[in-house]
Amino acid sequence: MLTLSQDDILLGCQAESWRAALDQAADALHTAGLVAPTYRDGLYAREAQSSTYLGNAIAIPHGTPESRTHVRATGVRVLQFPGGLEWHDGNRVHVLVTIAAQSDEHLDILRQLTHVLDQDGMAERLAGADSRAEIAGLLSKAVVEARLDAETLCLGFPARDHQELALAGAARLRQAGCVTSEFVAALAETSPLSLGQGLWLAASHRGVEVPALSLATPATALETDAGEVAGVFCLAARGEAHRGLLERILALLESEAGGDVREADAATLLARLAGESASVSRRLARVLNAHGLHARPAKQLVQEARAQGIAIRVRLAEGGFDAVSATSLTKIINLGARRGQQLAFSAEGEGADAALEAICRAVEGGLGERVMPFDASREAIAPDEDAPAPESLPADEAHPGVAASPGLAIAPAFVLMTPRFDYPARAADPAAENRRLDAAIHEGKEQLEALVQQARGGEVAQILSMHEEMLGDPELHQAAREGIAEGASAEAAWWEAIDTAAQAQERLADRLLAERAADLRDVGRRVLGILCRVELPEPPDHPYILVTDDIGPSDVARLDTDRVRGLLTARGGATAHSAILARALGIPAVVGAGPRVLTLDNGTELILDGERGRVTPAPSAERRQSAEQRLAEHRRREAEAWEARFEEARTRCGHRVEVAANLGNTAHAADAVSRGAEGVGLLRTEFLFMAHAREPDLETQIEEYREALEALDGRPLVARTLDVGGDKPLPYWPLPQEANPFLGLRGIRLSLTRPEVLETQLRALLMAAVGKPLRIMLPMVKDVAEFRAARAIVDRLLDEIPETERTIDLQLGVMIEVPSCALLAASLAAEVDFFSVGTNDLTQYTLAIDRDHPELSAQADGLHPAVLRLIEMTVMAAHAQGKWVGVCGELASDATAVPVLVGLGVDELSVSARQVPLVKARLREFGLKKARALAGIALAQATSEAVRDALEAR
Ligand code: PEP
Ligand code: MG
Repeated sequence: MLTLSQDDILLGCQAESWRAALDQAADALHTAGLVAPTYRDGLYAREAQSSTYLGNAIAIPHGTPESRTHVRATGVRVLQFPGGLEWHDGNRVHVLVTIAAQSDEHLDILRQLTHVLDQDGMAERLAGADSRAEIAGLLSKAVVEARLDAETLCLGFPARDHQELALAGAARLRQAGCVTSEFVAALAETSPLSLGQGLWLAASHRGVEVPALSLATPATALETDAGEVAGVFCLAARGEAHRGLLERILALLESEAGGDVREADAATLLARLAGESASVSRRLARVLNAHGLHARPAKQLVQEARAQGIAIRVRLAEGGFDAVSATSLTKIINLGARRGQQLAFSAEGEGADAALEAICRAVEGGLGERVMPFDASREAIAPDEDAPAPESLPADEAHPGVAASPGLAIAPAFVLMTPRFDYPARAADPAAENRRLDAAIHEGKEQLEALVQQARGGEVAQILSMHEEMLGDPELHQAAREGIAEGASAEAAWWEAIDTAAQAQERLADRLLAERAADLRDVGRRVLGILCRVELPEPPDHPYILVTDDIGPSDVARLDTDRVRGLLTARGGATAHSAILARALGIPAVVGAGPRVLTLDNGTELILDGERGRVTPAPSAERRQSAEQRLAEHRRREAEAWEARFEEARTRCGHRVEVAANLGNTAHAADAVSRGAEGVGLLRTEFLFMAHAREPDLETQIEEYREALEALDGRPLVARTLDVGGDKPLPYWPLPQEANPFLGLRGIRLSLTRPEVLETQLRALLMAAVGKPLRIMLPMVKDVAEFRAARAIVDRLLDEIPETERTIDLQLGVMIEVPSCALLAASLAAEVDFFSVGTNDLTQYTLAIDRDHPELSAQADGLHPAVLRLIEMTVMAAHAQGKWVGVCGELASDATAVPVLVGLGVDELSVSARQVPLVKARLREFGLKKARALAGIALAQATSEAVRDALEAR
């Protein structure tokens, strides 16, 4: 956000004409290094379009959108003209606030200035000010805005009483950045007050960063000992700023609408809290103007509103402000509405509907500016005419991206640009639009059904079926129908419904769940494509690497794996469904490589390295030849490894090292066995919990664990107890947001706060494994005390459950993920049955590098000598007590690391199922003596680079 500082202000300027003043303003921006000299033309062009005079002797010159390419840095220069000057529209000006903005930040300046526009005597005070501090003080009154918007609401939360709801509301405010954990703690200590009508209030001023109000409502009607609970207001109070919020609550209670809140959706609640009665007519219109509701379209809006001859009020639909009169220019500007935001207009009485219809049409028509339909998923990279085109990629140079699916591919590029959907925003015949939408949804379902039939992998079919279910969601249909009833075209109403649902999904704290918004948009685009009759260009009939902006999961599922050798995207992350599917289909993928990849010409030869996350366009003959050799070698090894996948895993000298599979889904155990896995070395049970909307009960868990145990047919299963919390919360297990989730309440720490959940899981595991071997391990253990607490529960269960109803072959171990555990391995080894080293977390905590950090995570290399020393200590302590050690982090499948781990004495490697044959093959390539020598070399190095260099040299 742009703010004014004293250094931005030039006092005592003089000019003979407005042009001379504008020249001075352009020079001031240039001298400050904010713009190129040519920006001056943009300032003139903008004044030629219409005056930037704002009121109260202030003008705000700024460039046209076209001139933004001449802006080097965003900033402002304020020029004071004590003698005043006549602006070209006849107004007298004393202050020019001249803006260099790369996007629409000038709206923030406008909003800050609106408060001075209504004040009498302000012009004289600005003219007479004799210090920069005085001008800055007059212009930049800090506006503290109390928040109440869609992001601060927490609706339909599965709470058991008003206290839990208050905490859920507090957690939501914490996520929205309004309060710190001190506020959450303060609310945990207080009991909410009853306001009547089933509503409650919990408030505190502790830990408040921005005054705000949250409303948390329960998922089901709550009758508690304290009374009915329809909702809990959670108020973050500060100074006077929250007073308006309290008034809104009182007004809601006076309107006796309190009891309705539990059933109401976010839009209705925000309308009620903004003071709109249930009887007003309300219409929504999206701001489509590229630079938001800036002065020019705002003026036009005011004129439209005046022309209706009826009182119309307007507010941002997502909340944040009270409704204001649509005929007040300063108040409209003060809304600061940006492109894509929705305005909620309301009016009452005769003619209200027609007036609202007219004003919404005007807004969606662009208020005098040319506008494009809005597609949130594409806005971030939508071709912005003002933005410089991305530079093309140089030939024969590796360009970095995110490694999303391993493998190497060499093939020409096929660049698929996502089509633009052009459609009218409004339509005259709602019945016809409803029919078109129904037909398109039906066709979309048929397409998906056909794809489900064709789908190769289980995961692909599952995701496509989920898309089919999304497409049938009655709430989406209803939302679209409401839009159509309000005059929107089928396309606009459908996309609006999809986008609103996707945005709600994106607000979820869980990154994995938030990424499901991509699935919704994917489903939405399918129907939009059918409605707009847009067809994707035909790919070539020879092998190619697909290059695209972003790719929806269903697009990946549709890929013809015989021809698509690799996938390269400008956007996206390694945890998106598209990346998961690419891995499931075995297609090498590099994602999030930036917009420059879209400048590639069709047919450009590419080397795509999905392991290192790199793409090299137009490689030299030499580079291509070496990549081809690597590829041929890789394929040969893969084929050989596959042939020998059922052989027992041993080193060349016959030393036995078990190779097991990591699983997130018990249904995949059979597939792991068919790939040669000798057991499951890590079952990430949190995925089972995440797949359910509520905590799975004992029977459900027994059934799912039994599926894996049966497929394993006597081979060992190592099940890790629930590893959630911190960065991967469960939707039905509310937790306050933490500043350092990786250092917070997660893994066993969290499980021990709800021992009943842990107990049910342990009971289910023990009972599912009747007659079978079972190994249970605890995640994120930091010392033996945590192990003992969990062991006590296990021991009690073993006493309670008759031997005939549970496993009698049980081992209980811990994961070595926290360095303290490795350092104290001797004390743990005396009590545990085994260790399994989670190198992903152990590396993160040893090197203090967030494993998901976009820039640093590449340095989080498990072959760092510090991590290797911790593994060595763990193995020595375990073997001294006759216990075994596995490694289940990603390092276990790193071909360079495998001999080192074996040399350190590791007894088991647990890797993703696809990697099992290759790891077994890797073991056959060396003997124990060599492995020990390599481990010694690695331990003697000072950095991970040195370790890799030293190992490669051998
Ligand atoms: C690890 O940390 O290495 C591990 C295997 O656990 P996760 O990746 O599930 O945290
Ligand atoms: Mg871990």
